[in-house]
Amino acid sequence: MKKITEELLDDRQHSRHSLSPILLTFHQTDNHRNPAPMNSFEVYVSKDTFKFNAAHFVAFQNYRERLHGHNYKIGVRLLGDRQGGGKIGPDGYVIDFGNIKAVCKQVCKRLNEHFLCPMYSDVLKITLSDDDNDGTKGSVRVECQDGTHFVFPKQDCMLLPIVHATTEELGIYLWSEILHGLHAPYLLQRGIHTMEVTVAEAPGQEATFRHAIPTENSATGKLDVRHFIMEGDVIPMPCPTESDKTSKTQGTQSASSPCSCPDCGGTTKFSEQLQQLAAAINNGRLQSKGPISAQDLEKALSEQT
Ligand SMILES: [Zn+2]
Repeated sequence: MKKITEELLDDRQHSRHSLSPILLTFHQTDNHRNPAPMNSFEVYVSKDTFKFNAAHFVAFQNYRERLHGHNYKIGVRLLGDRQGGGKIGPDGYVIDFGNIKAVCKQVCKRLNEHFLCPMYSDVLKITLSDDDNDGTKGSVRVECQDGTHFVFPKQDCMLLPIVHATTEELGIYLWSEILHGLHAPYLLQRGIHTMEVTVAEAPGQEATFRHAIPTENSATGKLDVRHFIMEGDVIPMPCPTESDKTSKTQGTQSASSPCSCPDCGGTTKFSEQLQQLAAAINNGRLQSKGPISAQDLEKALSEQT
């Protein structure tokens, strides 16, 4: 189901990089990582200025959070290996901290005081409208499964190529933006092979995205965030039907809306089955000497397929 314009999709098509899922890790605050090889080096930068305030809500099948905000903080770790041919430059740096600070501050500034809009959500219907010619104004309408909707000024939104506005997916997006700013060929030249971006939405509540610096198409300097998230490297959210206590507690679940995820067969399939049963009853194919049982209905359905 397409919810956004083809024009926007085209705008967000980037050349795809060679990706290694082995290096994709999300971890919690214990900062657990693989042991570093000998002759390796790393730098980590996380300044008080690497922060942004933003509004968001997470939404997936039959669930959405209420609109709320966080004071996000980010950190960047760069890992290199002298044995890989990299050397600390004549300036004595792995990389000048000033480079990282400039890029991170710029990336944070772009997100600051915006609504983080996940343009490839599979449960939100997102419609863009332009009220003027240059497209700087206009609005973003977000319709939710539970029937509620929001309308934001477009200039207050960051239209992100992600599926869920989670800290994890935000980490993938920020990784790509920071890589673009730091320039992948430059990092590779200095022996840096891997970058981690940590995103904290609150103290002690953070996710880290770690990935190799792409060597192919590195001139474009961006990860294809949309494809990376949507094409299998991230495990989909499980069906929440069995654990809908949480969503009911929060008052966001539509009690009458059945789950439409593939695991549950989907509302379309259920509707088709009802139609088949109705046809079987109406044309007399479904008959029973006594009351119709569930087994009779199952048998009628199996004869249809
Ligand atoms: Zn949140």
